[in-house]
Amino acid sequence: MTSAPSPAPVSNFLRTIIDNDLAQGRYADKRWAGKPGPASVQATGDIDPARIRTRFPPEPNGYLHIGHAKSICLNFGLAHDYQGACHLRFDDTNPEKEEDEYVNAIIDMVEWLGFDWKYGNENNRYFASDYFEYMYTFAQALVQAGLAYVDEQSAEEMRATRGTLTEKGTNSPWRDRPVEESLRLLDEMRDGKHPDGSMALRARIDMGSPNINMRDPVLYRIRHVPHHRTGDRWCIYPMYSWAHPVEDALEGITHSICTLEFEDQRPFYDWILNHLADLGQLQRPLPRQYEFARLNLSYVVTSKRKLLQLVREGYVNGWDDPRLPTLAGLRRRGYTPASIRLFCERLGVSKADSRIDYSLLEQALRDDLDPIAARSVAVLDPIKLVLTNYPEGKTELCHAPRNPHDPEAGQREFPLGRELWIERDDFREEPPKKYFRLFPGNTVRLKYGYIIRCTGCVKDENGNVTEVHAEYLPDTKSGTPGADSVKVKGNITWISTEHAISAEIRLYDRLFSDPHPDSGDKNFLDAINPDSCTIVQGWLEPGTQLTADTPLQFERLGYFIADRKDSTSEKPVLNRSATLKDSWAQKS
Ligand code: ATP
Ligand code: MG
Repeated sequence: MTSAPSPAPVSNFLRTIIDNDLAQGRYADKRWAGKPGPASVQATGDIDPARIRTRFPPEPNGYLHIGHAKSICLNFGLAHDYQGACHLRFDDTNPEKEEDEYVNAIIDMVEWLGFDWKYGNENNRYFASDYFEYMYTFAQALVQAGLAYVDEQSAEEMRATRGTLTEKGTNSPWRDRPVEESLRLLDEMRDGKHPDGSMALRARIDMGSPNINMRDPVLYRIRHVPHHRTGDRWCIYPMYSWAHPVEDALEGITHSICTLEFEDQRPFYDWILNHLADLGQLQRPLPRQYEFARLNLSYVVTSKRKLLQLVREGYVNGWDDPRLPTLAGLRRRGYTPASIRLFCERLGVSKADSRIDYSLLEQALRDDLDPIAARSVAVLDPIKLVLTNYPEGKTELCHAPRNPHDPEAGQREFPLGRELWIERDDFREEPPKKYFRLFPGNTVRLKYGYIIRCTGCVKDENGNVTEVHAEYLPDTKSGTPGADSVKVKGNITWISTEHAISAEIRLYDRLFSDPHPDSGDKNFLDAINPDSCTIVQGWLEPGTQLTADTPLQFERLGYFIADRKDSTSEKPVLNRSATLKDSWAQKS
């Protein structure tokens, strides 16, 4: 692992379970051949040096989002802290919707978050589709043992005979067909002799079980659809609930951590694994499944289907739109890997579902960036300030810390001249109460520069202010002995018009105006905030570092980053990552 995710891990129920498992030596005899495989392969290996094995198993049918980050930090974090291994497994058992584009994007984002799937010499990146042959062999073993059968009922018939929460299901007429017949039909299914939906392989468990998931769940269905990796080799594909335990077991996973919706699947998970182990197909000790509460974040949607709809229908500009909760979007917005890890660490791990406010994510970003962000000045709504007593053509340098938390980073310097850009809102002809910035007769400090006294303004024919006028007080420059000779209550930021860098600045607000855009039967599209992106043309302090890897804090305005796609040195484009917490940020 290249970077440790959390310095001092906080305990949680999963750590307690792992501590107990390790204390009892539950996995002490587990063998590992250095690669995934059934019992016969693992038996050739030595005792697994990894004390635990976890996995992060995304389906490559979309981009990772902040909810996935919680699972990534948890699984990779536990493996790291317990000297174990965490596998990145592409759960690509569903041929529709899965694409290599997503595989690559997922790899990128897990690495970006600071994790990898190496363990010693092992490269634990796997594709569930590589296990199709094993799964098929296991299915045959189950049929042979009378634990699975080929059912020729239609999908509707299966649904109708499955029963309900209060009513038991009824047995399929094909449930007791001879083993040889099921074996032959299973081969025919694989060989493409039967159309989609004409038959399915089902586990033979108990149609009267109080747990609907145990009422003879389907293992294989026929889908004549090419797969992104296996092409046309298969036309039967395993159902998730059958594939997942098998994938875990083949990889020697010890702790299979998933979200709470899968709690009802756990009996089937154990049923499959125990039978396959009894049949000699899988080694013991077997993986165990544990469930934790998924992340629900306010003001966003994280369902991949809904994210896809936002992208496809043009509500946002691609999967990495800075307003999306995708990791690609958050990165482009200016989120750092450390800020996301910090957020996940603060969330903790529990078994109780809850909703987390979006502001926690923003706060984690501020807490990460405040000590490291390069300070600079920007003017987003510019109006010209003329220092009428400052000599034409003259400029002089002013100095400010690169980062007030890091004196060793030194000072930055930038010129002051007769004409400056200031924020339009820093001048009022008629000041409201408690307004301490520029108005005729008032004095303020040009931050890091001189104290100035406002003398008036120039207006156009419509009465709009086009220029603010002031006189500077020559002996009051910051850092000189006379700096404190005049007391002022206001402090304003500025940039020399002659030297300022012109930039497009994208100011983001929440994508949804409803904190729970997809709760109940709401249509999440109804809650889209029409003002989620405001683009302004502003000015930046000369020398501002404009790379997508340099977080900036513009004084008074917030955290910003050069846009990794659209920004060029000729035409800088910046994203506001978050506002500042202090009241300046709320002033507009
Ligand atoms: P969708 O249902 O929208 O397709 P998914 O949750 O099924 O998304 P997967 O790619 O299957 O997406 O998820 C990979 C892993 O990430 C799973 O182990 C899942 O439990 C975890 N995960 C997904 N969303 C969240 C979330 N909001 N909070 C925590 N873990 C999550
Ligand atoms: Mg899924």
